[in-house]
Amino acid sequence: MVAIGSDYEPRRHGRTTQRRSRILWLGVVILTLALRAGPARTESPTDSERPHPNLLFIIVDTLRKDHLGCYGYDRATSPTIDELARTGIRFEAAYSVAPWTLPASATLLSGLYPSSHTAIESDRILPLSVETLAERLEANGYHTGSFVSHIYMAKNYEMFQGVDKFRVRYGRSTRFVSTEKVVADALQYIGGISESQQPFFTLVHLFDPHYEYVRHQEFGFAPESAGRLSGEISIDDLEAKQESLTEEEIALARAIYDEEIAFTDAGIGRLLAGLDELGVGDDTVVVLAADHGEEFLDHGRLGHAHTLYDELLRVPLIFRLPGGEHGGQVISEPTSTIHVYPTILDLLGLEPSSAVQGQSWARRMRGDADQPSGSSDEAGGATVGEAENVSTEWASIPVAPLFGAAFAEVDSELMSAHLRALRRGDLKLILDLDTGRTMLFDLSTDPDEAHDLAGERPEVVVAMREELKAMVSLSRSREAEAGRASLTQEEYDLLKSLGYTN
Ligand SMILES: [Zn+2]
Repeated sequence: MVAIGSDYEPRRHGRTTQRRSRILWLGVVILTLALRAGPARTESPTDSERPHPNLLFIIVDTLRKDHLGCYGYDRATSPTIDELARTGIRFEAAYSVAPWTLPASATLLSGLYPSSHTAIESDRILPLSVETLAERLEANGYHTGSFVSHIYMAKNYEMFQGVDKFRVRYGRSTRFVSTEKVVADALQYIGGISESQQPFFTLVHLFDPHYEYVRHQEFGFAPESAGRLSGEISIDDLEAKQESLTEEEIALARAIYDEEIAFTDAGIGRLLAGLDELGVGDDTVVVLAADHGEEFLDHGRLGHAHTLYDELLRVPLIFRLPGGEHGGQVISEPTSTIHVYPTILDLLGLEPSSAVQGQSWARRMRGDADQPSGSSDEAGGATVGEAENVSTEWASIPVAPLFGAAFAEVDSELMSAHLRALRRGDLKLILDLDTGRTMLFDLSTDPDEAHDLAGERPEVVVAMREELKAMVSLSRSREAEAGRASLTQEEYDLLKSLGYTN
């Protein structure tokens, strides 16, 4: 097991001199911090001294929302995330736009649907023509740091656009544990700039809940063995036994997955405590999201990327505003992670510089219960709406509705998955483009998506397929010119071990 930790030079950057002096200064600050005993708070610029608040964006890979306490789970996997939800704004029904890392994360960082940002395949980059969150913030005077733990979040895929400082931690073995290292990297970085007059953006991507599921026995959720499984179990082993796995064996896999979540939650706890110790916790917008969930034979599959059921698409999403303002809210309507990017910019007092396909939830977060959904017809019909409350020239460009609906897609030759999904109110439609099969579920009576109603309610299927068509057209409306990733054989092998290629 060999760790790969890499610092990369950014592709597009014009502030080399400034960066060098910053690095020198960073060294001094780290030394100073190291010499201090205990978690003494440092003096930091106050809210009024910085032009915008800081941003800490935590993306947890492969995190099922229904395995977290704040979403009703009965195992103590998530005390930190639960507390963040208690003091922040929690989305009960946020849908990811895709069921695997690359397209879902690229949307969080660009505000574009996968069909438009085009990072939809293991060999596709996030095109340089797409403006990332880091680029937007860097252009507005932010320090920008990115500390990640997946090859998809790294240089190969151009996910570092606009980032001043970045570090990637992933292992050649999928049993590599990275949360502690990524959290330490991020805290070291924030420690170096916390006294700056410039605000910071720090992206922290945590990978450990992703398979392989590694035991963290200090949490004690998983028994030593169950049925034919004991000790360390691998996804390959699980998949080999997929047809005959017993409930007890699946429960063991889930329990180890839960230990990974608890381990990651503890890392997030150290990260948030570190922010407070540095005196910047109250001046920082904290966002926690997952790229997608995970399947444990809920619908006959393991892992992720191949279906669009809720165990993959419904993700945890929590915002904490500076000082915990407007905290304690739950936003329960269905909505989409397409809105994360424009909402973050809005909360920081900024706007996208070019068209994105989402809108901002900020008005609702600040207590405007009447913020419209942006949908042209609440009862059905076209789901595509117009952006409201924006001043730029793209104000009339079609955007996804803020509330009440969500669209997701997966298009991968390598993973043999071509699917579309639309959640509208309590109903959900899933269309398999390969087989032509359409499924319809009523989540109010069937939250597990076990009973397909397509045969019983053909008129609803017809109406929702029309809506889906409108969303497909929207998802392609800003299609960027696609670019190919260049991977070494070793990197390709790593992706293969993660199940992302055939
Ligand atoms: Zn992922």
